[in-house]
Amino acid sequence: MSDPKKLYIKTYGCQMNVYDSERMAETLGGQGYVETQTPDDADMILLNTCHIREKAAEKVYSELGRFKGLKAEKPDLKIGVAGCVAQAEGEEIMRRQPLVDLVVGPQSYHRLPEMEAKTREGAKALDTDFPEEDKFEMLKNRPKAKRGPTAFLTVQEGCDKFCAFCVVPYTRGAEVSRPADRILREAQDLVERGVREITLLGQNVNAYHGAGSNGDMTLAGLIWELNKVDGLERIRFTTSHPNDMADDLIEAHGTCEKLMPYLHLPVQSGSDRILKRMNRSHTAESYLRLLERIRAARPDIVMSGDFIVGFPEETEEDFQATLDLVEQVKYGYAYSFKYSTRPGTPAAERSQVDPQAADDRLQRLQALITRHQREIQDAMVGRTVRVLFEKPGRLPGQMVGKSEYLHSVHVSDADVGIGDLKDVRITSSGANSLAGALV
Ligand code: SAM
Ligand code: SF4
Repeated sequence: MSDPKKLYIKTYGCQMNVYDSERMAETLGGQGYVETQTPDDADMILLNTCHIREKAAEKVYSELGRFKGLKAEKPDLKIGVAGCVAQAEGEEIMRRQPLVDLVVGPQSYHRLPEMEAKTREGAKALDTDFPEEDKFEMLKNRPKAKRGPTAFLTVQEGCDKFCAFCVVPYTRGAEVSRPADRILREAQDLVERGVREITLLGQNVNAYHGAGSNGDMTLAGLIWELNKVDGLERIRFTTSHPNDMADDLIEAHGTCEKLMPYLHLPVQSGSDRILKRMNRSHTAESYLRLLERIRAARPDIVMSGDFIVGFPEETEEDFQATLDLVEQVKYGYAYSFKYSTRPGTPAAERSQVDPQAADDRLQRLQALITRHQREIQDAMVGRTVRVLFEKPGRLPGQMVGKSEYLHSVHVSDADVGIGDLKDVRITSSGANSLAGALV
């Protein structure tokens, strides 16, 4: 028997890309590929790219340039570009970098086996369609390898919101929800392969409205169905939009035992003037009222968010409103970005903020977020949390897992295995993680 062909995938960007990379690896597994951790011994290299911020395409071109030597040594090596840069740049990628054999957009991954076969015949393969067929169904036939205790599961893709800064509605297309029965089947399959925690993914996951047995199902309805899956212990979801935080989802946070007390709910800015210019269709006040309702349902919930600073026309006063909002919410985690011009989006045409002022605001915002983050983490000391153990730690005898609040927790010299769920009493809080002992 000949050696299996080797596939190296480099993933950029969000968790949805991580999920997509796993599915691409599985579908190419059917063509005899096994994954390798280095491009050096690969027969195929795939870059699964992200287009959310500036210079994304340039980074991809420079990464591709680095494979020139490898391709010269190994002319049979196939090089592909997937993801949102592939969608946005299309054929241009092959024109600018002739060593690329294959360009595939996020909606066409199920066609990878045919595309790979085409490249083996010496042709180039390009597919950036938004096809009618359900790529997730077509990706179903894959080897059933054992999995770690946590997994992502994409339930919804694309976005119809058109925030003025964002490329997602253009690169990922219109919002589409997967039918509930297919998601439940996939969840069941993941559990059979060892998964105990599933994070439901979508660019706008709480806008989920997939076909259920009695008409469209909401995200809360889907979570309740998943709650019934034996062997699945934890459910999370990301990323949500404040306007789609429906009553039944808020209620589920208070009543659904497997739904974890953590919520990523990006607000982007605390200034109503900027929120309006961003086309966010919520205000700082409506966001804060929403949070009050969420916290009434689940008082211990840890909040997470996204922020953009230096959005066109943002003044120091607007930025101060963002700091005020952060001060009120106290996020356990938050991702903050300097506004990045995306050609083709409405905000790209507007008057840009001085980059130094934007840098300064980003630093001030991050300092405040870090302070809150640390306070929330430190407040866990003395409490007992439930930890799902995921991997060995760096020190001998150490194991690392995540609490229900998504904090990393280390225990030493304890008799725990990967996939175990145990109560841990927290004894100390470090820069980015907690330490404790089994109860
Ligand atoms: N759908 C989610 C929402 O509406 O909050 C966000 C998904 S988006 C892929 C992830 C994050 O990237 C956004 O929340 C935003 O903070 C950031 N982002 C998107 N476009 C950006 C841009 N042009 N510049 C800087 N950050 C950006
Ligand atoms: Fe982008 Fe999120 Fe706005 Fe959709 S809702 S356009 S994904 S930031």
